[in-house]
Amino acid sequence: MVTYDIAVVGGGPAGLSAAYAAAKAGGKVILLEKDESIAHKIRTSGVTWIDEIEKLGIKSEHYNPIKNYSFISSSNEVTIRGNTPKACVLNVRSTYQHLAMLAAEAGAEIMVRSRVTNVVTTPEDRRICGLKAKTPKGETVINCKVVIDASGFSSSIGRSLGIVKEWRRYGIGAEYECYCENLDHETWVLMVGTKYSDAGYAWIFPVSKNKARIGVGVGRPESYSDPLQKLNDIIDKKLRPLDEIRKIQPMELHYGFIPNEGPRTPIVYDRLILVGDSAGQSNPLVLEGIRYAIEYGRLAGNIAMKCVSRNCSIEGLEEYEKLWRHKSQARIKSALRVQKRWISLSDEEWNREIDILREMSVEEFVDFIKAEFTIGKLLKFGLNHPKLATRQLLGLVMRS
Ligand SMILES: Cc1cc2nc3c(=O)[nH]c(=O)nc-3n(C[C@H](O)[C@H](O)[C@H](O)COP(=O)(O)OP(=O)(O)OC[C@H]3O[C@@H](n4cnc5c(N)ncnc54)[C@H](O)[C@@H]3O)c2cc1C
Repeated sequence: MVTYDIAVVGGGPAGLSAAYAAAKAGGKVILLEKDESIAHKIRTSGVTWIDEIEKLGIKSEHYNPIKNYSFISSSNEVTIRGNTPKACVLNVRSTYQHLAMLAAEAGAEIMVRSRVTNVVTTPEDRRICGLKAKTPKGETVINCKVVIDASGFSSSIGRSLGIVKEWRRYGIGAEYECYCENLDHETWVLMVGTKYSDAGYAWIFPVSKNKARIGVGVGRPESYSDPLQKLNDIIDKKLRPLDEIRKIQPMELHYGFIPNEGPRTPIVYDRLILVGDSAGQSNPLVLEGIRYAIEYGRLAGNIAMKCVSRNCSIEGLEEYEKLWRHKSQARIKSALRVQKRWISLSDEEWNREIDILREMSVEEFVDFIKAEFTIGKLLKFGLNHPKLATRQLLGLVMRS
């Protein structure tokens, strides 16, 4: 029987990128995705940043550029206008299919409608040596040297081994991709306060001239309300700013879960790496995870292959954990603090808080929402905006 160097569980951005990097590094790689096709079920809104995503090789044919950023609360509103687009809304299906093409071109095998049901371990020392999966070719055992768990929110491999627990804090989002008329396709909108979500926010993310993703996100355990019910309510009542858009007609319904408590510790085990949402690597401020899933997926694939060439020692895999923590841990911690405060704001507090954004330049706003809180940038921001509200925000970000 064939033994793969790497078996990747999950064909989202993390898994596809890990498979690509490992195959490119010369590995024999297999990726299993439980859905009928790559990006069959969309579980994301697809907002990201043009410079970051282009660095990862995703070109403009895969996204709609965004120049302006609006925030709306119950009685306040601010739009930060830019001259050039910095954000974008991805065509999620074409982007993920592109990532799959890269992986296949590099030599990875891809199996769709193939659910991994269990992990196989050696009888003598219980080390991971394979996976069991239900595939279109029947039930199969796949022998492998290292497993990459890129199964998203479910962390299905870590969970089946009993080494990780269910997430306690997480977000749930419901979203329609809609036909719209009179849409400002260069502006994304976040709507905050209890009218829109009792612990989270609602959004309008334009995908093209006449198409937008309109959704609601809710944070657990702060709220147990149903985001889909709230979304229907907002659309039926045409709450601001939906009153300006005509002929809103849903064409797809998306529903998804995202962890929101920072990364798991550790994210590396003997012969196993967790990556993407499975590891909790997204930016908790606005629950943005796609570019991190691609970047850290590639890192995981590369390091897993290095480890295979060195007899699969756990020390080899630990380099991945060290590198990503060095790059992201501090940013995630600060973002979590701001996000925890945001999620508990009252409507009145939101109306005031939005004024902080009014003072920001586009560059400052983008750094803030990306959670790029470097000390230099924070000091400059504090000097430029000495008002009390700004100082409170800085205190929140910088508190150790
Ligand atoms: C409502 C919502 C809106 C979001 N909006 C944004 C946004 O605007 N921008 C942004 O950057 N991020 C956003 N995110 C977060 C982003 O979608 C995730 O961070 C990102 O998708 C993580 O990628 P991943 O590959 O780790 O996981 P996923 O994209 O979840 O992929 C995991 C894959 O594994 C498969 N799988 C699971 N279990 C198994 C199994 N046992 N066997 C085989 N396959 C399996 C699943 O079918 C899935 O295809 C949003 C999330 C949600 C829920």
